[in-house]
Amino acid sequence: MRCGGNRLYLTRRDFLSLGSCAAAVAPLRSRRVAAAQFRPSSAEINAIDIHAHYFPMEYLKSIANKGGPEGFNVDLTTSPGPTLTGGGAVTVLDPTYWDLERRVHAMDAAGIKVHALSLTMPMPHLAPPDRGAELAAIYNDAVVAAHRRFPDRFVGCVSLPLKSAALAVKELDRVGKQNAMRAVYFPTNIGGKELSDPSLDPIYDKIQSLNLPIMLHPHPPVVGLSRLQKFYLPNLLGNPFDTTVAVAYLVFGGVMDRFPNLDVLLPHAGGAFPYLYGRVQRGQEVIPDLKNAAKAPVAAYLKRFYYDTISHSAEALKYLVDLAGVDRVMLGSDYCFNMGYERPREIVTKLSMSAGDRDRIFFGNARRLLKLA
Ligand SMILES: [Zn+2]
Repeated sequence: MRCGGNRLYLTRRDFLSLGSCAAAVAPLRSRRVAAAQFRPSSAEINAIDIHAHYFPMEYLKSIANKGGPEGFNVDLTTSPGPTLTGGGAVTVLDPTYWDLERRVHAMDAAGIKVHALSLTMPMPHLAPPDRGAELAAIYNDAVVAAHRRFPDRFVGCVSLPLKSAALAVKELDRVGKQNAMRAVYFPTNIGGKELSDPSLDPIYDKIQSLNLPIMLHPHPPVVGLSRLQKFYLPNLLGNPFDTTVAVAYLVFGGVMDRFPNLDVLLPHAGGAFPYLYGRVQRGQEVIPDLKNAAKAPVAAYLKRFYYDTISHSAEALKYLVDLAGVDRVMLGSDYCFNMGYERPREIVTKLSMSAGDRDRIFFGNARRLLKLA
């Protein structure tokens, strides 16, 4: 589990139970050399990356000093950065995770103008409500500060203490209208609670009233862990299937109907949902209990969701664009994990499409969803 140059300290058992974006470190050197050969013109530094992770030092220090989300710890004494333990991984967070100046250089090299910053594990919802609210505020304030320091390079996604609707709404009231904040980040499950849980409705209502999109991201505990103990499967399969399960709850659990103006972006090219939607819709048609679970056919929701480009397959990305529509797909990288893209534009350029459609995926769709000028 890296970003540039950090060391990874995982036992094999730790790694196999990993539920985050992490992956092996070995290929990094060759990937970085290849990235260094890519020289975008200044005009090509125009893409908006809507899936880019950021670990502010203030957030890490708070977890180290006061404790954090259940099961996670931070040690500030290690080098070249703090060590994060939890979710089955022990990760040294080198400056690539938290140094914004280094990040801007990396963005320039990859032809990326804007990062929509987001937290990955640990998110604040795994802490007790009051502590989760404190951690969410620390993260959100750091994102606001990043935007103020580099206003044309960084915007961000609001993190929330989702165990308490009242505290989550309070935090949305506090930061939801900040210029930096262009989306709200949600785990695909909330410590095992599903996204259709009625206790979340006041939060959805507030997000809808703020006209912010929700961006989903897998978070431990992902689905099926008991059968995913080998081959890095919590990451390779658990993460995208947790997204797929979350979609089923959003659709059949009525969230998308109760909040008809809510926009939701699905990470990792939608997980398995774009491929399985036909089967899910068949169930909707023939299983009596499902007939009235959602107001519209599943295919209608498929075209309502948004998706990033993190498929790692040009064929799969082409299928997604053809299926959901070129206006629903936007560039993502999973920065700075090595399960992401070092050169996120590349897979888009492999698709046969007009320059206008390519620009929609590079920046036009994200500009619309995030309401950027
Ligand atoms: Zn990610």
